[in-house]
Amino acid sequence: MLEVHVHSSQEAGIFANAYIVETDRSLISIDATLTVDEARGFRDRLANLRKPLKAVLITHAHPDHVAGITEWLPSNDTPIYAVRKVEQLMKATEEQKRAQWGPVFKDQWIARWIYPNQIVKHGESVNVDDHVFRVADTGAGGDCDANSVWILKGNPERAFVGDLIFNGTHSYLADGHIQAWLNNLRYIRSLLTDNTLCIRATGSPATWRSSNCKKDICGSTAGRLRPLLAANLLSMNRKQKNWCGA
Ligand SMILES: [Zn+2]
Repeated sequence: MLEVHVHSSQEAGIFANAYIVETDRSLISIDATLTVDEARGFRDRLANLRKPLKAVLITHAHPDHVAGITEWLPSNDTPIYAVRKVEQLMKATEEQKRAQWGPVFKDQWIARWIYPNQIVKHGESVNVDDHVFRVADTGAGGDCDANSVWILKGNPERAFVGDLIFNGTHSYLADGHIQAWLNNLRYIRSLLTDNTLCIRATGSPATWRSSNCKKDICGSTAGRLRPLLAANLLSMNRKQKNWCGA
């Protein structure tokens, strides 16, 4: 069996999704949540499934995807997989994020993060109960300075894309890396089938070609891209422009 459970955070947890993949014998989490309460809700979901958590896979280094691990990791021996750049960025930004957001979230801010203890390289796989997750290290250009996508083979194929694709509005375009983001979209698309389910960090899963997903990518970006193109701050080939309606 293989079932994907979603934990959708409330507004206080900035609506971020984290996932539990359930197999016959075990559980794998994809990312974590932001606040103490959301992490405890996620911990309850894990407990209710009554199977051992065998692995944690991280897509990117933002707090709403990594902080909650502290609240539910069964033991320090439980493997937490990430690409090197994601691990490095977590370590480099934890203090700064705490200083910035701790006073806002107060006792809901998770005081200490637990870092990845298993580093995977681009293209490597993690196998849990014969379910194979392959990682694509995409670097900057998602909504973070270090991003990766975990692709779970099967029928359907599933791609845990983190914040590469948002649900409606890609709010982090303001952070730059727009060209890198477009390149990452094109690259990840090349790795996937038409029927791959993109499992996003907000909203529900969608195939790449579905109107829902396409609207997310293009509808939210075209208006923002045009001025950048006009100012030569962004270069796109004709195919990219057509695709994004820019
Ligand atoms: Zn993010």
